Amino acid sequence: TEPLLKITDLKTHFFGDDGVVIAVDGVTITVNKGETVGIVGESGCGKSVTSLSIMRLLQDTPGQVVGGSIEFENKNILEISEKEMRGIRGNDIAMIFQEPMTSLNPVYKIGKQLEEAIRLHLKYDKKRAHKHAIRMLELVGLPRAKQLMNEFPYQLSGGMRQRVMIAMAMACSPKLLIADEPTTALDVTIQAQILELMQELRETSETAIMLITHDLGVVAEMCDRVVVMYAGKVVEETDVITLFEDPKHPYTKGLIGSVPKLGENAEELDSIPGNVPTPYNMPNGCKFAPRCKFAMEKCWEIDPNLIETENDHLVRCLLFQNKQVEVEL
Ligand code: SF4
Ligand code: MG
Repeated sequence: TEPLLKITDLKTHFFGDDGVVIAVDGVTITVNKGETVGIVGESGCGKSVTSLSIMRLLQDTPGQVVGGSIEFENKNILEISEKEMRGIRGNDIAMIFQEPMTSLNPVYKIGKQLEEAIRLHLKYDKKRAHKHAIRMLELVGLPRAKQLMNEFPYQLSGGMRQRVMIAMAMACSPKLLIADEPTTALDVTIQAQILELMQELRETSETAIMLITHDLGVVAEMCDRVVVMYAGKVVEETDVITLFEDPKHPYTKGLIGSVPKLGENAEELDSIPGNVPTPYNMPNGCKFAPRCKFAMEKCWEIDPNLIETENDHLVRCLLFQNKQVEVEL
């Protein structure tokens, strides 16, 4: 396995009127070539901010990366010029968002948007880009691809628009696809089709996928490895089988306890009482302590480190740290 994306100790802060919000608090995640890594957690855990940090799309927000590095193919993309970044974005790293309407331009026809992306990234001439665009629409299973080229985004259903977005994202055979809740807004049948499609594309073009979701059913279907985030930090990381068979962090256990089957509407996870702490009531010790049914006194004082409990199984919880401390208590 060769690392494609290596995020090390990433820190992203939001500078608002009421003070600084620490959205991503020292996150380390590696995505290897051809691998699908799931990033899971509730809303507000820092998943989307992590992906926007990678794409360097925080400019229009009060957010700013204040620490760490993001190496893509051994190059720290936080240090390259915006021009160089534009070359990577869409070309080497593509992203699909939850709501495709916002990422497709409503005033241009589907074909024009696809062709332009292809011409920009693959440097094809107009004719070749046109052909490639149609092929991509067919590849994502859209019927009457040729006619679709002449239609506007509003003429398509949500599921079709999402497929167009995937076609656009995959048209340039990116090395990494970042998919942020790619199917959340879609109905069950379309959701299953899109996931299948992403899997196919992964197999044919060896694209690595970073799949951001709160839906553990999707994770079980799609991922090789899983990173669980809570309050801006990684709290557990392991392979997908171990995650479901032997979850260690109380938060992960709670998530799995509330796992909906693929297709069931997975709104937010409600079997864990309470909410993700807001930046203004962030506990001193373990960030999960207010909701944790295993919380001990020391959990309120000590912020646990991420440690390896077994081979490649990382957990941030005092239950799994220094046994001696536990014996003393
Ligand atoms: Fe729960 Fe304590 Fe572990 Fe935090 S450190 S998850 S409060 S047991
Ligand atoms: Mg999000």
